Amino acid sequence: MPAKILLVEDEPALVETITYNLRREGYEVLSETDGAAGLRVAQSATPDLVVLDLMLPTMDGMDVCRQLRRSSNVPILVLTARKSEADKVLGLELGADDYVTKPFSMRELLARIKAMLRRNRASQPPSRQAFGKFTLDDARHEIRKSAAPLALTPLEYSLLRFLLQHHGTTLSREMLLEQVWGYDFAGDTRTVDVHVRSLREKIEDDAAAPHYLLTVRGIGYRLDLD
Ligand code: CA
Repeated sequence: MPAKILLVEDEPALVETITYNLRREGYEVLSETDGAAGLRVAQSATPDLVVLDLMLPTMDGMDVCRQLRRSSNVPILVLTARKSEADKVLGLELGADDYVTKPFSMRELLARIKAMLRRNRASQPPSRQAFGKFTLDDARHEIRKSAAPLALTPLEYSLLRFLLQHHGTTLSREMLLEQVWGYDFAGDTRTVDVHVRSLREKIEDDAAAPHYLLTVRGIGYRLDLD
């Protein structure tokens, strides 16, 4: 399966060149031209690597980096015009993995990406994790219940994945919005309820009397494994 790379960059010419070159190398490429959308896609589409420009509209790259690190270990390669910025993003707080300074050669960018993907693959835990009756398989983008694959939309997948990884913990609607939809999602918390309802239809034996995905009154939801 080709590695999936998310490019967050607002300069159209750069987007075009980088996308073209990455595709030619056989990578799958997603791209977003502003920070908020980039963060959302980074959280929902589980890319293998994120190429992130720092100067972006709606939310700058530093904030994207900081937010993304709270919920993901995806390798982040930063594109920056200034070396001083690069030092900052590689720091512990922001947690980017590498950077190239603009202008860069496409060869250099590709070499960095290749090296980062290789490193990450080598250090990655197995992509399949069991949570009670559920099995999360990130490589296949699939969640099974008692060995049968669930037919989930990408959003339901992200939501259930997050709930599984935080099973036993009560999660507020606000937190779910922030972590699953992206913190700036321009919707209200009822969005969460709607998706929880549809998720219950798929994972519960009786969606009206949920056994796994429980409502915690006045707070939000909790996923229990047994
Ligand atoms: Ca820019």
